[in-house]
Amino acid sequence: MKKVFIIKYAELNTKKDNIGMFLRTLKENIERTLEGYSVSITFDKGRMFVSLQDEDFESILERLQKTFGIHEIEVGYELENHEMETIENALISIIKESEFHTFKVETKRSYKEYPMTSLEVSKHLGGVILKNKQGIKVDVDHPEVTFFIEIRREYAYIYFERYAGLGGYPVGTLGKGLLMLSGGIDSPVSGYLTMKRGVKLEAIYFESPPHTSVEAKNKVLSLAHTLSEYGNDIKVHVIPFTHIQEAIYKSIPHDYMVTIMRRMMYRISEKIAHHNRCKILVNGESIGQVASQTLSSMSVINEVVTIPVIRPVACFDKLEIMDLARKIGTYETSILPYEDCCTIFVPTHPVINPEHEKCVEYEALIPYEELISEAIRNEEVISSNMKTDQEFSEYL
Ligand code: ATP
Ligand code: MG
Repeated sequence: MKKVFIIKYAELNTKKDNIGMFLRTLKENIERTLEGYSVSITFDKGRMFVSLQDEDFESILERLQKTFGIHEIEVGYELENHEMETIENALISIIKESEFHTFKVETKRSYKEYPMTSLEVSKHLGGVILKNKQGIKVDVDHPEVTFFIEIRREYAYIYFERYAGLGGYPVGTLGKGLLMLSGGIDSPVSGYLTMKRGVKLEAIYFESPPHTSVEAKNKVLSLAHTLSEYGNDIKVHVIPFTHIQEAIYKSIPHDYMVTIMRRMMYRISEKIAHHNRCKILVNGESIGQVASQTLSSMSVINEVVTIPVIRPVACFDKLEIMDLARKIGTYETSILPYEDCCTIFVPTHPVINPEHEKCVEYEALIPYEELISEAIRNEEVISSNMKTDQEFSEYL
């Protein structure tokens, strides 16, 4: 018998006409994350079946548990056929290796011509289990183990263990966004939450060498790599930001430095998004966290673009963001102590309520359009599509 994962879909029951697209994308995403394993995948509107021969069960499960669009993963066996004797033998060998005191059997028949009804199958197999294991009894209300039997036209399934999936929509079903990815804690979490809603991501990172180190950039690439384990090979657009930051530092009153710098980041991000068919910008801004994230700051920064800006952690407390960062595996990298370009040029008293007119007046002091074009011309695009952690660390 073959080991099989039975995948229950998350949130897809609300999709009617385009459910096929959601399921095909989920299948492709699973194929991609399981590349190199010999598994076969089939699906219907209710479930997806991933069957495997002698593959590494634990690591496949781990990958499925990082794939969005899955509500629950059931683990069991696909039998050679649906004959009662085959099912009995399989069950007997399964119960010999399992520890439990109470159980029940539940049967589903999608093959309606089967000679027994579902109830008859359940009763019969319940009897077989009782006969083959000591000290156990049936408990239909609160069993320790439920053996699900599913009878299909060609064969039968038995499954009895379940694991939670991540939920959300399959990545890629809702278009593409551009994540403004710094080395901090907030933006990777924002990226994760956006991917969870089915949005494929590319990322943009502003670097200011020599004021920022190569380690700061590698940290961002490493975060992109961690995020890409959730089903999306993230391309990182690295934008040289040194000239813009130096011009701002030289010519702009210091209390407005951060506001203007962020307006420049937004302008560049919008252009990169349009070039790469990204429909939204995503960032890690959180209301009130720093001076540039007050409502007035966010509004004068946001006004330089028309593309929608999604801020998934806008209303999260820092502690909530940190908890999520730990859960998704980005926290340890995010807290590595490398300066990013924002922290280096931070003035002692950044303006808390910046004004639109002043931004316009100050921006006229620098040739920002040329500087933006130059930065975009010199972007470096790096793929996080490296198959193994080893390949990735060699790149670093
Ligand atoms: P984070 O923890 O994500 O770094 P933060 O609290 O440090 O966020 P800021 O530095 O003000 O906040 O940045 C707000 C958001 O702007 C970040 O979450 C990120 O989306 C974006 N951002 C900041 N710096 C950069 C950068 N160097 N490259 C790309 N995006 C950036
Ligand atoms: Mg930051």
